[in-house]
Amino acid sequence: MRAFEKCYKNKVPIYIVWGTRSDDQQELLYRCGRTIPGIIQTTHRAGYSAHNYGLALDFCLLFNTEILSWEEVYPRKYWRQKWLRAVMLFEEEGWSSKWRGSNFEPGHLENLMGKDIFEYMQEAKIKNNKRDEQTDNRNSGVQDLGKQSQDQNLLI
Ligand SMILES: [Zn+2]
Repeated sequence: MRAFEKCYKNKVPIYIVWGTRSDDQQELLYRCGRTIPGIIQTTHRAGYSAHNYGLALDFCLLFNTEILSWEEVYPRKYWRQKWLRAVMLFEEEGWSSKWRGSNFEPGHLENLMGKDIFEYMQEAKIKNNKRDEQTDNRNSGVQDLGKQSQDQNLLI
């Protein structure tokens, strides 16, 4: 990953805390602060986050063995600048951050490779439908068998 190497060359000790999330993980995270007690962690339901497609990461900075979150970095100018530099270096490589707009998430970076998140959702839907069709076919086979044995029972 070019942006990652660039960070190290620029002495920005970036540490990835979360990359890909499954739909189940995303849904669980979404429920945090809603139906599960705690603070709200994400505004995205399963399938709506670039994390679900392996196209996003959340980072912290690594200082010796200490993982520094944005909350810890923010009051320390030296580290705050390192953090901003990381975001900048990734942006130079075509990634986007959540520093602008309403959804402020300082450690989030994503790269949708020039596509829209809805295109990925659509592709995933088509894949899922195909999978569902296959399971449906299998299930209806089982149902037929069940029906047959029921009919046979009736005959007996
Ligand atoms: Zn994120």
